[in-house]
Amino acid sequence: MAELVQRRLDRIRAEHAEVADGELADYIPELAGVDPDGFGLSLSTSDGFIYESGQAATEFTIQSISKPLTYALALHLIGLDAVDARIGVEPSGEAFNEISVDRVTNNPKNPMINAGAITAVSLIPAGSPDERFELIHDFYSACVGRRLELDHDVYTSEKASGARNRAIGYMLQSFEALDDDPDEVLDVYYRQCSLRVTCTDLARMGATLARGGMNPVTGRRVTSAAVVRRTLSVMVTCGMYDGAGDWVSAVGMPAKSGVGGGIVAVLPGQLGIGVYSPRLDDKGNSVRGVLTCRSLSEQLGLHFLTVRRDARATLRAVYEPRSGVRVYEAHGDLLFSGAEEVLRVAERERDRYDVTILDVSRVDDIDDTAREMLSALGAALRADGKEGHLVDPDGVVARAGSPEIRFRTVDDVLDALDRRRRPTP
Ligand code: GLU
Repeated sequence: MAELVQRRLDRIRAEHAEVADGELADYIPELAGVDPDGFGLSLSTSDGFIYESGQAATEFTIQSISKPLTYALALHLIGLDAVDARIGVEPSGEAFNEISVDRVTNNPKNPMINAGAITAVSLIPAGSPDERFELIHDFYSACVGRRLELDHDVYTSEKASGARNRAIGYMLQSFEALDDDPDEVLDVYYRQCSLRVTCTDLARMGATLARGGMNPVTGRRVTSAAVVRRTLSVMVTCGMYDGAGDWVSAVGMPAKSGVGGGIVAVLPGQLGIGVYSPRLDDKGNSVRGVLTCRSLSEQLGLHFLTVRRDARATLRAVYEPRSGVRVYEAHGDLLFSGAEEVLRVAERERDRYDVTILDVSRVDDIDDTAREMLSALGAALRADGKEGHLVDPDGVVARAGSPEIRFRTVDDVLDALDRRRRPTP
């Protein structure tokens, strides 16, 4: 049953597997040495269940995907006002490494371009660069749920070739936008960019943000919902370099990409996505990563303006009216996440029933994705040697003409089962 979701993800990844457009980032020499064909996709549900497709375990450096995290940590440690006094929240429309500050405030325009990200590092209160890096390293690791490791080769390579970032650092100092020694701040920035992640780590990080700062796997709250709201807002407007407008209209999820080839996308309340493919477009975004996120959004209905309400609490009641018969009762709006939850719970509990009854009579709204996923449930159950019945008086899942038998109530199903079991005289 959960394989219905898995197959969809595999199919979406496969749609773009042949694309070989784009170039590896080579301005950091070490990044030019990675396998250009690496391609992985992970999706974490808001309760921390992971789906993986392709090279989901391949490690790469986090690069700019570190920016929203360090920004969140600065907000967490010194507060919104103190951060706002030093970094703006306006999209710059400029390249990520533009040597620029806001003309009026003399502050970096937002925390997703290098100038703002370097300033964000300098706002992490610590007694030394090492201590600052440790706070950052601990925070990222807590968001992901495992201890991340530093890629020393990428760090050294970035540090040796960082003329542009040094220029930005000294420019910031000259505008009094940086209080600390630029080289010390940059050293921490290079280290944060060189932490190694997999796309499953990114999906987990995304799920932590989707849950308002609570890591669903460790159960640890890493920051507050207010910090996450601000961080996601800036990701919406500035996360995809100067491709943010296209991204919001086509994909519609707060996201951040990095020149290492990763993209993290977050659907608040619902899920986190991580994609990895290192060939980049001219804006610096992963070519296959963008295509994959676009397809995920279109085919699974994940645009944040489509997902109107929190569809997380879809499965309201699971009960057993008699032994071997399990009822799954869905409420509210049924979208991808809700349907995924139904399928996964039905799979997890497969040893506890011979017959399942899916009751969708209290569902308000359903989208095509959820309808397709749930209509496939009956066949998946039969393939598994089980029986599945649908209580769907209004034809929410099984539309007119569908071969699926629609019952009006759970009792009607139970009556039908009794009639079948009663020995014929
Ligand atoms: N470490 C990279 C830099 O500062 C990050 C850039 C990126 O991923 O956009 O150039």
